Amino acid sequence: MLIKNSLIVLSGPSGAGKGTLCKALIERNSSVHCAVSATSRDCRGAEIPGVSYHYIGREVFIKKITECAFLEYAEVYGNYYGTLKEEVFSMLEMGYDVILEIDIQGAMQIKENYKNAIFIFVMPPSFTELKNRIYNRGRDSMEDIEKRMEEVRRELNYISEYDYVVVNDEVDKAVDKMEAILMAEKCRLFKRTIDVDAFIEE
Ligand code: 5GP
Repeated sequence: MLIKNSLIVLSGPSGAGKGTLCKALIERNSSVHCAVSATSRDCRGAEIPGVSYHYIGREVFIKKITECAFLEYAEVYGNYYGTLKEEVFSMLEMGYDVILEIDIQGAMQIKENYKNAIFIFVMPPSFTELKNRIYNRGRDSMEDIEKRMEEVRRELNYISEYDYVVVNDEVDKAVDKMEAILMAEKCRLFKRTIDVDAFIEE
């Protein structure tokens, strides 16, 4: 498939601030849209169905897997999460750049199939800061926090698979960096479309 607009894959440890960066990037750039993932888990606290996730339940999720409806999917902390092909391709066709906030398993599936996607890994400023952020969210038990930190150690080993690393120390600066990446990638994409002969004969 020829992707004319950018497909941006954003991963990183839980608590690194992917969601905040995604939101801020979209607020600054009307041409960037975030794909809403589907999940088998229930809606939590302040989340909004259709905005935070499409909550489709386990049975429907598994049915959609068999129908090959997902661009990628993964089981994370006992729940299924996935990106619906229809959601992404319709936005790309409308001319938007699409950002996916997904875990590493999903990102690696996209890497296999969509070579032009841009892979950005979001890092917290430090390991201690990350632990504090997760703790201060007050959402997880101590046992869950330890499990998540173990997962973080494992995830950090995948950094080399990503094109870029953005450290989320200050949201505005981190979003500046993401915009710079997008701009550079647009120039790269443009390079692939240039017809030198046609340019000379114009
Ligand atoms: P949470 O339940 O905290 O919202 O999300 C748990 C994890 O699932 C996060 O690491 C998040 O990046 C990941 N996730 C959310 N949506 C998707 C998706 O569509 N695909 C994959 N592979 N992971 C996702």
